[in-house]
Amino acid sequence: MSAQCEFIEGCPIYRHFRAQAQHVFRELYCEGDFASCERRKLRLAGQPVPANLLPHGGTLWQNGEQPPPS
Ligand code: SF4
Repeated sequence: MSAQCEFIEGCPIYRHFRAQAQHVFRELYCEGDFASCERRKLRLAGQPVPANLLPHGGTLWQNGEQPPPS
């Protein structure tokens, strides 16, 4: 089994993270327990992945709202 998620290159959630948050999520999920990532589960199931969905299942901003300015 690969040591990192197969979707790590270009995963769209990264564009919303600052460096520290990116590092934390990457270590915890993308290069760690990626099998539990809710974004990956949806993608593997061929379902749409909400832009605001975080790997642990939380949301980065409210559903129906725009993402915060970066
Ligand atoms: S956030 Fe999830 S889908 Fe994206 S690279 Fe990390 S483990 Fe893969």
